[in-house]
Amino acid sequence: MSDPKPDDWFSEDPEAGFRLLVESVREYAIFRLDPKGFIVTWNSGAERLKRYRASEILGKHFSIFYPREEAESGKCERELEIALATGKYEEEGWRIRQDGTRFWANVVITPLFEGDRHVGFGKVTRDMTERRRNEEQLRQARSEAEHANQAKTEFLSRVSHELRTPLTAILGFAELLQAEGPRKDQENRLSAILNAGDHLLNLINDVLEISRIEAGRDDIHISAVPLGPLVGETVGLMQPLARSRDISISSDVAPDLMVEADAQRLSQVLLNIVSNAIKYNRDKGTVDVSATRAGDRVTVRVSDTGMGIEESMLPRVFEPFDRLGAERLNISGTGLGLALSKRLVESMQGRISLTSEPGVGTTFVVEIPAAEQALVEPVDEAPSGTRSAGAAAAAATATVLYIEDNLANVELVQGMLGQRPEIQILTAMQGQLGLDMARQARPDLILLDLHLPDLTGEHVLQALKADPETRAIPVIMLTADALPEQRRAFLEAGAVEYLTKPVRLATLLDAIDTHIAHPPASAPPRPVP
Ligand code: ADP
Repeated sequence: MSDPKPDDWFSEDPEAGFRLLVESVREYAIFRLDPKGFIVTWNSGAERLKRYRASEILGKHFSIFYPREEAESGKCERELEIALATGKYEEEGWRIRQDGTRFWANVVITPLFEGDRHVGFGKVTRDMTERRRNEEQLRQARSEAEHANQAKTEFLSRVSHELRTPLTAILGFAELLQAEGPRKDQENRLSAILNAGDHLLNLINDVLEISRIEAGRDDIHISAVPLGPLVGETVGLMQPLARSRDISISSDVAPDLMVEADAQRLSQVLLNIVSNAIKYNRDKGTVDVSATRAGDRVTVRVSDTGMGIEESMLPRVFEPFDRLGAERLNISGTGLGLALSKRLVESMQGRISLTSEPGVGTTFVVEIPAAEQALVEPVDEAPSGTRSAGAAAAAATATVLYIEDNLANVELVQGMLGQRPEIQILTAMQGQLGLDMARQARPDLILLDLHLPDLTGEHVLQALKADPETRAIPVIMLTADALPEQRRAFLEAGAVEYLTKPVRLATLLDAIDTHIAHPPASAPPRPVP
């Protein structure tokens, strides 16, 4: 005898079969209402969900399942009206069981017709409490994680600020002593102080940056960047380090190659890889930088002829603080550069990898999305740190007002400006005093700290920009706060430059000369948020 076809099971009375199906479904409450909303059928799912037996609930109005205030507000009648008018009413909300407990329900109400005659409503209810609880837990976990991350970033930025302030004095004064012509035996000691200070500064910057990327608060500004000039700049900056060890650097990048990247971040990555290629190279070695485009990716290769990396150590290369034993070789470094580079490259939708042969050399490969080629604009070839003769001349007999309350910093900047005898420096150790002096003395430039005893740096900048008498004076922020959003906010509010302490002698003089020579147009600034 053959098995019956599925349809045969209900073939004797399809309606009875269908009723059996509805009555047996346990996951959904499925029941009928009459046109006024009174309950006329009840299935086992409804009994399970709402905990009423059929004999207890038939004939009752369905508003019995709603929280009292909703039932009394006429919500149930409105739902039936909407279902009738539009063919369906659906919502999620709290419903009450027979024992008074609540559950989160998904409800669909459908009007029922026999021919043209409206005979009532079908109501299907599902218990979504579990899903809602999971979503709630997920939302809460996400919000807690975001808070923790934010707290971590803020903590790091505070720590970095606290560390930078004393470093400003250490590096600045050591640099001044060096500029003043120390005794022969003092020279080495001073360069030891400067090297250690630089090392500490790099550490602080890298840790701050890694934590910002991990907290997802790193602002990346992706645009179409011409790769040739970026590589040229990197090679130019690294030449002195290479020359000191007789290492030659060559680069081969097609002039029209463009990448989709954050120029500053990409330059940081390249600087790091090229400086490693020099640091871990042999004397008289070579470094080759090349770039090619394949499809929608650009590949940058940096190859060196250095000591290479053992295969077993390759997985550790991008681990923070792992120097693979380089610390024993007396080569300076923090072990953070590649960890940071990897995060930066990945944040630009790129990839970084390497191949290496011990004793022969290493090749780092950075792949980034290509951008469509555009006309290459001429780039300013002047290496950073050099000043045009015009700018230097324009700085003659100028007045700079420094608003800062930390005596050591005041003394340091005074010492640095000692290199520019033509500049007169005025200092104000309070914000209000600084504003008054700016109005009276009309300096050619203002250096402004962020944390003053009476007013904040934001406040002083806003007041300077709001006053027609001081609006045109260029303001350079000089601060230990290195957060990019802060930097952007101050630049948008009208500062011409945002220098972070410890500021190097050449950087400060360069900025002062540039802005005294080219004061800004007095466009109305935006407020600091
Ligand atoms: P570091 O500050 O120590 O240079 P990085 O994160 O830049 O830190 O690099 C991590 C380690 O990887 C280095 O300490 C070094 O041992 C190794 N390394 C990096 N680049 C090279 C290279 N071009 N050749 C050989 N070893 C390298």
